[in-house]
Amino acid sequence: MEKSRRSFIQKSAFGMAGLTVGGMSAGAFPTPIASRDSNIQRLSAVHKMELMAEFENIIITDQFDFFGIGDLSNYSDKLSDYGYPLAEKYSKTISVGYALLPTIVDRLSVEPEFPSIELYQHFCYDLINQMIDNSLLKLSKILIKYGYDALPIPATKARDNTKPLYGAFSHKAAANIAGLGWIGKSCLLITESVGPRARWGTILTNAPLTPTGNLTERDCGDCNICVKHCPAGAFTGNNFKMNESRENRYDAFKCRDYIVQRGKKYGLSVCGICMKVCPYGRKT
Ligand code: SF4
Ligand code: SF4
Repeated sequence: MEKSRRSFIQKSAFGMAGLTVGGMSAGAFPTPIASRDSNIQRLSAVHKMELMAEFENIIITDQFDFFGIGDLSNYSDKLSDYGYPLAEKYSKTISVGYALLPTIVDRLSVEPEFPSIELYQHFCYDLINQMIDNSLLKLSKILIKYGYDALPIPATKARDNTKPLYGAFSHKAAANIAGLGWIGKSCLLITESVGPRARWGTILTNAPLTPTGNLTERDCGDCNICVKHCPAGAFTGNNFKMNESRENRYDAFKCRDYIVQRGKKYGLSVCGICMKVCPYGRKT
């Protein structure tokens, strides 16, 4: 790997404004690299550094703001409500995240003005989701090439009433156990740098990656701003607890029904008020 690129990653790690990343040095793959196939095993041993270079290259060229690795095996008893049955055969999660543009999030309002929700729908959902999913596919293919299993969990899309109102595995739980942030009363992941203003993708894998952090246990304390501002009244005001069900904090059906109504009124089914109002993401 080029020296300049490696320096960038190391300099950016846990930086205020740069990429939040951990475990991306060669040490992220402790030897020996296990593989299912002897040919792949030889390939993996010889090309260990190349694998890391490929991985890092995608994280940088695709301009992710967050990268983290979580150790599923440490939290299997706590993740049953977050898609753990799907993750049971995997030992690690890989989280990637994009920070949303504050110039767009700050424009959101209950009665949106043109072109606020168009910008939000396009740049904060459609485009970012596509970018995340493309990158998850590329990262998964690298892991599989080196002999590991990798199951990408796509970025969360708006869901109609024919599908369950949760993803196959919780991106927020994955980022939480990777040490990238904590989960607020809004059920959003709160990061140090941009609060909840980010979108996430996850890969489940059996690659022996070194975790970048541990479950971040923190809560909102007395803050109730998102609870008061949610136009659907979807939040109960309870703090997040990993082993409690989402319904203790959040009624996803109230949120979904409100967003469907907005779609009828304004033509686009997005809201994002809970993300906008959280003091952890606001600069002013
Ligand atoms: S997106 Fe809107 S309706 Fe849904 S929980 Fe957030 S503030 Fe409430
Ligand atoms: S607005 Fe307040 S209560 Fe809601 S998630 Fe942010 S810190 Fe927590």
